[in-house]
Order: sequence, then C-alpha cells, then structure tokens
Amino acid sequence: ERKELEKIIGQKSVTLDGREVELVGNIGTPKDIEGLLKNDAEGVGLYRTEFIYMDRDSMPTEEEQFEAYKKVLEGLGDKPVVIRTLDIGGDKKLPYLKIDEEMNPFLGYRAIRLCLDKKEIFKTQLRALLRASVYGNLKIMFPMISSLEELLAAKEVLNEVKKDLDSEGIKYAENIEIGMMIEVPSAAIISDILAKHVDFFSIGTNDLIQYTTAVDRMNEKIHHLYSTFNPGVLRLIKMVIDNGHKENIWVGMCGEAAGDKKMIPILLGMGLDEFSMSASSILPARKLIRSLKFEDAKKIADKVLSMGSAKEIERYLENTI
Ligand code: PEP
Ligand code: MG
Repeated sequence: ERKELEKIIGQKSVTLDGREVELVGNIGTPKDIEGLLKNDAEGVGLYRTEFIYMDRDSMPTEEEQFEAYKKVLEGLGDKPVVIRTLDIGGDKKLPYLKIDEEMNPFLGYRAIRLCLDKKEIFKTQLRALLRASVYGNLKIMFPMISSLEELLAAKEVLNEVKKDLDSEGIKYAENIEIGMMIEVPSAAIISDILAKHVDFFSIGTNDLIQYTTAVDRMNEKIHHLYSTFNPGVLRLIKMVIDNGHKENIWVGMCGEAAGDKKMIPILLGMGLDEFSMSASSILPARKLIRSLKFEDAKKIADKVLSMGSAKEIERYLENTI
C-alpha cells in the first residue's frame, strides 16, 4: 500500500473539481522533519516548541532555540513553517519553572498567559524566532488566545522585540505572517474580530473540543463524550472558517481532527485551507482529497451542520463516504 501512496508524491492536494488545499505536518523536534519530507508534506503547520524546554533542568538559551528553529526552517527550504510559541502548563510542566499547584491546570496559568506574565521567557523565544526567520519561510503562531487583549498584547511584545533587534542591527525577515490558534471557545466566537488582527488562524481541535464540551481530553472515563463530531464543535469550526475568509485570511487546522479520514470531507467542504497532521497521515489524506469533489464535500458539510448528534453524524458519514 505504501507503493500505491508513493505514486502521489509530488502531486497536488487537489479535488477532482479543482479545489486545492495544503497538507502540512505537525512536529515536536527538528528531527521530525525527515519523516515529513519523506511523506511529501507541503510545509510545517505546527511546530510544538515546548519540547525544546522539556526534559532538561534549565531554560533553553536564545542560542539553543535559534539553532533548533534555523534547522527546521532550512530543512523545509521555501515551504511554510508555522512555529507556535511556548504552550507550557496544563499537562506539560517544566521542572525548573516553579508554578503553584492549581485546581484546574488546563484552565490555569499556561501558554500565552504565562508568556505575557513572564515576558523575559517570551522575549527570548521571539528573539530566537526572528533571528532564525531569515533562513526560511517562518510564520509565528500564538497558542491559547482567549481574548482580543491577549492577542494585541502578544503582538505588542513581538513589536518590542523587533525594535530591540533593529537597534542592535540584527536582521529578520520582513512580512512574517502572524497567526493564532483557535482552541478556546471565546476566541472562536469573536473570530470575526480577531481575524482583523492576524494573517491566519489554525484551529486546535484537541483543546477546542475539550473546552467547548467540558470534556477533559485525557479522561478515559468520559472518552466517549470527547468527539470531533460534536455538533457544537462542528458549528464553531465552520464559523471560524467563514469569519477568517470574510477578512481574507487563510484558515488551517492542526488538531488531530485534521488528519481524520471521516473529518477531511467535512473540513474540505467547509472551506478549510490548510490541514496539519502527523507525517504518516499526509499521503492517505492527499489520496482521499484527490478522489473527492469539492461540490460534494460542501453538500456533506451542509448536511452534517444540520444534524443534532455526533452519533447521527458519524452514521451518516459511514454510509456516505
Ligand atoms: C490542539 O489543541 O488542537 C493543538 C494542536 O495543540 P496541543 O495538542 O499541542 O494542545
Ligand atoms: Mg492545544
């Protein structure tokens, strides 16, 4: 079967009736780019930088981070690379960064909240990213944004860092695209407003499902309630894509749902522009997309959006695709 899939290496991710999308990969370390390139990824849609900070006993220096980002950007050549700023907290802890015990770590001091509070950590990362930007096609993405104020504050810190670099005569790429994850319901709901302040959205379904349905993504006991096909989640996704497109920005997805065979026709039909997934899912996803018509996918999306239960939606998909 791998031989079959290898035939579509180098081909476009395009439907039978000409709708072209981008299939990109999720990575956690620079080593992961090898697998992405083997599977013909069209770029990186999510580089989870927290792994640079984990499994060690001190903060990574600007130089260490710069080297990692540079390696990924150079490895991808002129292909787009979306690097997400630090998303620590929740289940991901750093042994050298003492944070008070929290009742609800997933609703707590994490990701952009922590970065806006501990600005030195944030600035060091942004400096490393900007310095690395001249080696490829970098796009910077902020995680866990839940309000307009947070987004504007994060952009302000980035501008401060740019000014610092300017005054030191250090170069960085011009026109770096700035995006944000949509993984908190309050952000999805005001995505029409947020879209005016970013170049792209990437929908993080792993957390968006958890926060929208109040179902812990790690809790086995309630795992049956954690569904990508939850109608409320699907409607939010559609809303985000439409709101992004109204402001002429591209909308991607980097949660697990983007690589799910049953979700792909729906997401395609909703108009998603970029799908970011694990390396091994890329060629199967391309094969599927090349077998579909965009017009049919739109009908599937419309139908699904009219349904009221995840079970009903899954049953319909099983009988349709
Ligand atoms: C997500 O929440 O969907 C996502 C991609 O981020 P992470 O899985 O790293 O929380
Ligand atoms: Mg997330």
